[in-house]
Amino acid sequence: MKALIVGGGIGGLAAAVAFDRHGWQVEVLERADEFTEVGAGISLWPNALRALDTLGVGSVVRSRALLSMQAGIRDRTGRWLSRTDTDELERRFGQMAMLHRADLLDTLRSNVPPGALHPGVTVHEVTPDGTVRHSDGTSGGDVVVGADGIGSVVRRSVVPDAPAPRYAGYTAWRMVTSPVDLEDGGETWGRGTRFGYAPLPDGRAYCFATVNAPQGGVEADVSALRTRFASWHEPIPRLLAATEPHAVARHDIHHLPPLRTFTAGRVALLGDAAHAMTPDLGQGACQALEDSVVLAASAAGGRHMDDALAAYDRSRRPRTRMIARRARRIGRVAQWSAAPAVALRDAVMARTPRSALVRSLTPVLDWTPPG
Ligand SMILES: Cc1cc2nc3c(=O)[nH]c(=O)nc-3n(C[C@H](O)[C@H](O)[C@H](O)COP(=O)(O)OP(=O)(O)OC[C@H]3O[C@@H](n4cnc5c(N)ncnc54)[C@H](O)[C@@H]3O)c2cc1C
Repeated sequence: MKALIVGGGIGGLAAAVAFDRHGWQVEVLERADEFTEVGAGISLWPNALRALDTLGVGSVVRSRALLSMQAGIRDRTGRWLSRTDTDELERRFGQMAMLHRADLLDTLRSNVPPGALHPGVTVHEVTPDGTVRHSDGTSGGDVVVGADGIGSVVRRSVVPDAPAPRYAGYTAWRMVTSPVDLEDGGETWGRGTRFGYAPLPDGRAYCFATVNAPQGGVEADVSALRTRFASWHEPIPRLLAATEPHAVARHDIHHLPPLRTFTAGRVALLGDAAHAMTPDLGQGACQALEDSVVLAASAAGGRHMDDALAAYDRSRRPRTRMIARRARRIGRVAQWSAAPAVALRDAVMARTPRSALVRSLTPVLDWTPPG
């Protein structure tokens, strides 16, 4: 049996590892000339680490990550609004990991069989019978996995009435600093603006900033970011001072309205192609990892393929929809800009017990892999 995977990001490579572990032949078509990721960090919640354990790469990922550091949310003066009870989270759900995206991608890529990766191949069209037309010709598979991200060609081919991605109303900069002295991570919420940071295992730090803006409307280099955040609490100005201009990338944040299905015929969508969500819960890639494990287990479970893909759809669509909705809700509140609303938000957060956060995360983090 063969899985033909369109897209070699986190979701596509994880799917390749997952199908290979079930004894399937795999082939990954990636339009970029290399299997790389933007220069940024990524946080993986315990549910994602459980998926990676199922793929057999959890311990390697942990060895390349910082595990379970302290985190929370502050206001721009540095006053804590909410502190994450990471000990309790770890006790209940397991560790969290923070690592460089390139290290996650490298770990997944090195677990895909040699010869299965085809960079520089752009897919143009996919049909439900499993035929894939691309820049090098035509290929097919018993299952075709659409892991080609938020602008998915596979989604447009097999769910033609799928809604287009929508702009969330804010733009984000991601950056990795030069080596800095930083022990813990956290997010700081202002008015229509946020800044987040976390240490990476090699002594650098991963940072992001978000700002409300019209779509495509804001370009700001690192010196503009330094000015914008100059009056925010440390270590934010210090982290921006340690950031080289070339280490900053900006993306407008989009999300995908819910799809009516993740599958058509022999084709299954996965990751951002199926459920691109705003990054406010740090769950987009975590969900792509869960998808890959569930899809491979369903397809390789010996059932008729229609039943197997229907089971995948039933298992993944409601869960990812619930998580995307939560992420969007958090993003809206986090990006509030009116002073009275922000004052109220901050006051409520400061009074909310730590246990409430752990409780609210339970449906997201308590996922267990099939079988
Ligand atoms: C600011 C920000 C911060 C985030 N932080 C986190 C976090 O901390 N934790 C977390 O879990 N998630 C996070 N996410 C979400 C996460 O980055 C995505 O959910 C994840 O990368 C999706 O992976 P994917 O493989 O589905 O898609 P992608 O990473 O988009 O990969 C798709 C791949 O398909 C290829 N491709 C596209 N079209 C074609 C084609 N026609 N033919 C061939 N190949 C094609 C692309 O080149 C690409 O390599 C964040 C997102 C943002 C924007």
